[in-house]
Formats: sequence, structure tokens, C-alpha cells
Amino acid sequence: MLTCQGVRKEFGGRVVLDGLDLTVEEHRVVALIGASGSGKSTLLRCVNLLEELDDGSITLDGEEISDPRVDPDRVRRRIGMVFQSYNLFPHLSVLENVTLAPRRVHRRARAEAEAQARELLARVGLADRADAYPDRLSGGQQQRVAIVRALANSPRLMLLDEVTSALDPELVGEVLAMIRDLKADGMTMVLATHEMGFAREVADQVCFLDAGRVVEAGPPAQVFGEPTQPRTRQFLKRII
Ligand code: ATP
Ligand code: MG
Repeated sequence: MLTCQGVRKEFGGRVVLDGLDLTVEEHRVVALIGASGSGKSTLLRCVNLLEELDDGSITLDGEEISDPRVDPDRVRRRIGMVFQSYNLFPHLSVLENVTLAPRRVHRRARAEAEAQARELLARVGLADRADAYPDRLSGGQQQRVAIVRALANSPRLMLLDEVTSALDPELVGEVLAMIRDLKADGMTMVLATHEMGFAREVADQVCFLDAGRVVEAGPPAQVFGEPTQPRTRQFLKRII
């Protein structure tokens, strides 16, 4: 469903993605792991067309979305992206945050968008917070709202960048539970994470990035249990 081929990205002459290849099948969860600076976030930003490629191509559902002639807004309507800092609009209620894009971008009627938003919020146990403002929610609740907001656009693909990193440990669980449920629903996801336990549990495939390339990829049991590349072994030894 998603294919990155030879993706190259430089910042001021510094190569951050160095001919990276990645394939994500529909309904699969791919975890990107790797040291800080290895290019995980940059790759997710490239897929969401927040960065222009210096070389290579990205194809989503058969369409080469990295073609400069493609309208990025049209592509982003098919992709939900959630960041470490949840970026909710502070002056809008939970319900308004969630319905903003469906109404403005997808031109849904207010009643329809609100009904869908309430259903999504109910599914993650936030039905009673619909009228609250973000500053009245815990970090874990805010991140769940941010994920619901991305889901409200009915994306084909979800990109999650360190969605639990900013949370207190006791709040991480509720966000992880939500991602587990999304996986059970068959959502295709690419997530960058520093939490190896989570990657091991939720991912169908783990990709180890080093210096802007996928150095090793495979099922979690293989990448964590029997890594074949010395650099993967080094990385895992350092962090586990
Ligand atoms: P982390 O685990 O810390 O989140 P990461 O794997 O997500 O790291 P990236 O954020 O993709 O790494 O960054 C890769 C490299 O690209 C880093 O050296 C970073 O400083 C650099 N970089 C990222 N964005 C920019 C930018 N807009 N301008 C210049 N350099 C950038
Ligand atoms: Mg990052």
C-alpha cells in the first residue's frame, strides 16, 4: 500500500535519508526504530509530504505521491499523522478539534461530523469530555483526542511519531491500548518509537534505521531476538 524507493533527503548538504527503501502492506503495523537522528521523523514527514524528496519516490495506493505535481492536501486527506506533542487547538473544545477537518476539509455537515466524532470519542472512553477544552485533559487524554482527530478524516494510513514520548509513564498505557485497538480494526500504521517493548508487541514488522537507511527489517521476534546486522545488535545492546 505504501512504498518508499530510494528516498533521499538532505538538509543543507547533510544526508538524512540515504536511499531508503520501505514497503508497508495494507492492514500492517510497521515500527521504525533507531538512534536519535537516524531519520525516523524525517521519513514520516516525507510520507506526509511535509518534506520534498531530493531523490527517490513514495507511492501510496499505486499513486506516486512524491511527484511534485501532486496536490499535497489531497494526499494528506488520506493520511492521519500524530506527533509527540499532541498539537490540539487550545481555543477549541475536544468536539471542535475533532470535527474541524471533517467539516472544513472534507465538507461534511456539522451534525454528521459531530455524530461521527462522538462515536469515535466514545470508543476510546472520552465521550464525557467532548465539550472540555484541551487544558482540562490529562496528557494521555489529549493524545487520545489527537489520535481521534486524525481518525475522523477516515485515513487509509496512520503515521504516529513518538506518540507516547511526552506522556507520564502511567498515561502511556491508555494510548498504547488505543493503538492496539486500531491495529485490531485493521488500520495500516507506520510508527516511530523508542519503546522497544511496544514495537515488539504491536508491530508486524520492525525496521531498524541507521544513518537514513533501513539496515534491518523483519518480524519483531527476528529483529529483537536474532538481529543479523552488527549495527542492529549494537543499538539493541545499548538500549535494552
Ligand atoms: P529522534 O529519535 O530523536 O526523534 P529521528 O530518527 O526522528 O530522531 P530526525 O528527526 O528524522 O531523526 O532527524 C534526522 C536528522 O535530520 C537529524 O540530524 C536532524 O537534526 C536533521 N533534521 C531534521 N529536520 C531538519 C530540518 N528541518 N533542518 C535541518 N536538519 C534537520
Ligand atoms: Mg523523531
